[in-house]
Amino acid sequence: MCWKKAPSLIFLLLLMLLMNGSSFSKDELKLLGAKDNQRFACLGCVSVVSLIEQFSQVHNSTVKATLEKLCTYLPGKSNLQGICFLLVEIYGPKIIKLIEAKMNADVVCHFIHICKKKAGQPYCHLYPPPKEGFNVAIKKSKEMFTTGSQKYMHELSFICTLPFMRNLCQRTELLLKNQFPFVDLDGDHFSTYPNLRGYYWRGRDCDDTNAAVYPGRRPEAWDAKEDSNCNGISGVDPKDGIPYEQKFCNGTESKGIILLGDSAGALAHIPPEWITASQISLKTYSNLLEVISNEIDWPQFSTVTGFLNSTIGGWTESLYRLLLRRNRCNHRDYQNISKNGASSGSALHLVQSLARNQQFDKPAIVIFAMIGNDVCNGSPDTLKKMTQPQQMRSNVVKTLLYLDSHLPKGSHVVLIGLANGSFIWDTMHSRYHPLGQLNKDVTYGQLYSFLSCLQVNQCNGWMTSNGTLRNLTTERAMQLSSVLKGIAKSEKYANFDIFYMDFPLKEIIAMWQKMGGETWQLLEPMDGFHPNQFASALEARILWKKLLQERPDILGKENPFNSEIAAIFHGQGH
Ligand code: CA
Ligand code: CA
Repeated sequence: MCWKKAPSLIFLLLLMLLMNGSSFSKDELKLLGAKDNQRFACLGCVSVVSLIEQFSQVHNSTVKATLEKLCTYLPGKSNLQGICFLLVEIYGPKIIKLIEAKMNADVVCHFIHICKKKAGQPYCHLYPPPKEGFNVAIKKSKEMFTTGSQKYMHELSFICTLPFMRNLCQRTELLLKNQFPFVDLDGDHFSTYPNLRGYYWRGRDCDDTNAAVYPGRRPEAWDAKEDSNCNGISGVDPKDGIPYEQKFCNGTESKGIILLGDSAGALAHIPPEWITASQISLKTYSNLLEVISNEIDWPQFSTVTGFLNSTIGGWTESLYRLLLRRNRCNHRDYQNISKNGASSGSALHLVQSLARNQQFDKPAIVIFAMIGNDVCNGSPDTLKKMTQPQQMRSNVVKTLLYLDSHLPKGSHVVLIGLANGSFIWDTMHSRYHPLGQLNKDVTYGQLYSFLSCLQVNQCNGWMTSNGTLRNLTTERAMQLSSVLKGIAKSEKYANFDIFYMDFPLKEIIAMWQKMGGETWQLLEPMDGFHPNQFASALEARILWKKLLQERPDILGKENPFNSEIAAIFHGQGH
């Protein structure tokens, strides 16, 4: 669902640096919402300082040795190590002294001014407050340093001006401005590169110098000469001179699958081992840059467009894989157009990066799955910020109109209802968060209230101890799902039909329990909020089964030539 500003721990640390980077103009800084980033910086600081404390504890090493060791665990080629050492140089001496004096992460981060207490407001804290109270603990900290506390943020502003940092800063800037840094040479929105919205997000381009060659198009002259639609099928059968595309794919109802979604659809996941002191090794952060360049999402394993075997636990099961198994002509025809934090309101902006040509391309199944952010936000006045039913209707109808002018005839739109997150609090609040497992001192309940205090709770309406508020949030989610249901019934379009499905939460939980699992295992351990890899795979299985039962025409017939295609074209290229 949300992760509005993509807060990975290290990314946060980078953000913290970038936000103060002198490469940003004043207007840009305004755009980037300096206040928001300050809150994420506090969350990042508390997480990183916790990790340092716990790593020292687990390995029985000094804080200084821990800091040096953790830096060497970062990817060496990326210069992140250099930045890490620089941070240690700047913050190290104070952090070492404070941690050795048994100050907890909340106190340390307030003392070094990365967490800021607003006048008249309480201190935001993840851990139980110090016995003597925050004011006394911070005063004590100050007395440990003759020079008093200083603000360091401005000293870091030069980082984005360093030549080796420029690229990373620019990419981050683009993302924060809601622009996708596509790495696509011929401009057809498909790429031969996996990350940065490349083929982890939409089918791999098999010719990135030719914009007329891309996944999803109807084959040019039956692909007798080249594979114009990148499905791995091309050439002519030497026995009879008939092109294989014509022989195996013509009339088989081949089609693509496209997701318009949020962070659940993109599969947001922060590896919990990143902050689990006992598990950290040289390997832990080796994929850090790759994860950041995918916005902390793993669409390659997701419910709708997963195509690689999961490396983050569980397994991959996706509508794309099932659709491919049904008809091998669909190979590579997937697009994951999702964004962390997306809602019905941002769908209209998102859909504009759809790559589908009415004249040249095959029909597509578009899954519209904004399953939470219309009711989930971090505002203290959360109910007011939720989407109203009439606004929902208008947002979705506008998006559908756009789709009608871009989708080839014979397409389908599947609207998925909102997930009912009312189970999250009951399931999670008394369980320990990965940061709290070592010393049994941080529960998800504490995490949620720390996030609320910082105003970065992804869902104030459900991740709260206030049962009345949770019920009101559920009520609104159900109203918004009814709006989608109503649209599916009443609206008619020229190029697609609409089918509505509830988000199958109950079925996912029931199926998981039947397999011997427990409900809490279906949520992301880092945020205690997002459906994880298990939930995503089961969701695909259930949605597919329902579609097959109720609307098999949406999926198209099974291709009788699948085994011939597999025999002649093997894996059809990866
Ligand atoms: Ca191309
Ligand atoms: Ca082809």
